Amino acid sequence: MTAEIRLFTCLTDNFGYLVHDPATKATASIDAPEAGPIIAALEREGWNLTDILITHHHHDHVGGVAELKQKYGCRVVAPHDKTTAIADVDLRAANGDVIKVGSLLARVLETPGHTLDHISYVFDGEKAVFAADTLFSIGCGRVFEGNYPMMWDSLLKLRALPDDFRLYCGHEYTAANVKFALTVESDNPVLKARAEEVTRLRAANKPTIPTLLGEEKKANVFLRADDPAVAAKLHMKGADGAQVFGELRERKNKS
Ligand SMILES: [Zn+2]
Repeated sequence: MTAEIRLFTCLTDNFGYLVHDPATKATASIDAPEAGPIIAALEREGWNLTDILITHHHHDHVGGVAELKQKYGCRVVAPHDKTTAIADVDLRAANGDVIKVGSLLARVLETPGHTLDHISYVFDGEKAVFAADTLFSIGCGRVFEGNYPMMWDSLLKLRALPDDFRLYCGHEYTAANVKFALTVESDNPVLKARAEEVTRLRAANKPTIPTLLGEEKKANVFLRADDPAVAAKLHMKGADGAQVFGELRERKNKS
């Protein structure tokens, strides 16, 4: 049976996600920005929280863990990198581990760069990837703890997933990302179509997530830093993907 996925807003622009397995009634929260909206979503659906799958240690992704753990007694899965203090962890997940949420399987993909401990959860059976602050729609996370080659390598891992997978990311940043992307690739037809769609969705106060990875591969310039056409646009002919990615990220930081 297919998973049911719910998304809602937490804090200012974080996404909360619930992944529910109808077969076993297991429900996972992907990250826990704050407890209130997650509890409200669970009560709306009549679901019980069995697991929290944490992607990285930033407070806006773990702030609700303690309260949820106390209320539901759920299992907390977190990155294996213990250098960061995430409280109440029951299971440490490393690259390639498969985490069970009832009968659903989440494969752990290490995607460091934004933080050193960042992991993404790939539900192959559901064709869904939760990439938190590594890959956004039409953008990517800031590189706080890692370096550009590391982050580029993480984006390549996500890019290698099939086109029909849905991307669920950590923040509603798409409109700002589109604005920046158009400064680099105003002539990209897929980006222009996405820009129109994003304007329409945001005007209706609707989320721009999920998005199809296949579309992101065409419209998200950060996923095409190794495309010679992108390098040429930045006057970086001959530069490799990591170098071009670094330049894109620097420009976005200043935008
Ligand atoms: Zn973060």
